Amino acid sequence: MHAFSLLAPAKINLYLEIIGDRADGFHELVMVLQAISLCDRVDVRAGSTERIHVSCDTPGMPPETENLAYKAAQLMCEQFPAAHAQFGGVEIAIAKEIPVAAGLAGGSANAAATLVGIDHLWQLGLTVPELQELAAQLGSDVPFCIAGGTALATGRGECLSAIGSPDPLSVVLAKSRVLSVSTAWAYKTHRQQFSSTYVTRPEDIETRATQVHSGPLVRAIAHRDNKQIGNLLRNDLERVVLPEHTLVAQLRSAFLEQRVLGAMMSGSGPTVFALCESPDRAEEVMQAVRARIDNPTVDFWIAQLSGAGVQILD
Ligand code: ATP
Repeated sequence: MHAFSLLAPAKINLYLEIIGDRADGFHELVMVLQAISLCDRVDVRAGSTERIHVSCDTPGMPPETENLAYKAAQLMCEQFPAAHAQFGGVEIAIAKEIPVAAGLAGGSANAAATLVGIDHLWQLGLTVPELQELAAQLGSDVPFCIAGGTALATGRGECLSAIGSPDPLSVVLAKSRVLSVSTAWAYKTHRQQFSSTYVTRPEDIETRATQVHSGPLVRAIAHRDNKQIGNLLRNDLERVVLPEHTLVAQLRSAFLEQRVLGAMMSGSGPTVFALCESPDRAEEVMQAVRARIDNPTVDFWIAQLSGAGVQILD
């Protein structure tokens, strides 16, 4: 086969706790990451030259060489020079459904799909842990995007442990087209405002991660206690993003007024998601919140929590 099409799912954060600072400038985090059925499609094919070429159907993307999919392909060429020489370059075409810079890890998902696609194209037979090790060199969320599902993530987000999986609940997503939040700004502002509460001793960081691992949210997920999952959502970045962006706060309140299971900003935002018991309920909630917010710049999506990661289409 000289070409593969892959689905690259977005993620939401059911939990994002900032524990402290790291020497490398990132934050120590404990997160529960959850894949959803909203996917980009990534086509990976053997190129006619040695080059890597990335195209994307969405305007406003960074230059080709800064696309995370390009960086993923470049990493594969560096790591596997013999396969690169044998099979030549790669052409990657991305069809985006996941909104860009939305807190849904769209770029990371594209990079993960590129790694999996090239692994297949070059018949390398890499294992999931091997792919995740490469993925960690590209960004904190990329290792999770390889296998998706539900996972506890620690470190800067790249250390993953499997936890149970929730029911395939429906999720409504809302994001304004004219609003973007820089991930770097959100974490920097959190540090400026809250670093006095950060835990610094490595053993205390470890303890906190262990507490979350054996804590109520992870238990609720294992027991598929949907009500509790909704009640226990947490995202520390809301403390800096919500005061700055009233629309994000309004969307969150509008979802909660609809008595959804839970509503929360995902990652560094600005997407807000709401968990609902069924697709019908999600549709109802979406219509009600759309009418309540009455803002034509806000787009809505309905998806499902998903157990999948990158999938190769037949
Ligand atoms: P995360 O949740 O991992 O922080 P995000 O969902 O907030 O990510 P992305 O959609 O991954 O945001 O985009 C973050 C930045 O990465 C954007 O500013 C975009 O210019 C850049 N980027 C690079 N490659 C891609 C890609 N393939 N798809 C989307 N954005 C990309």
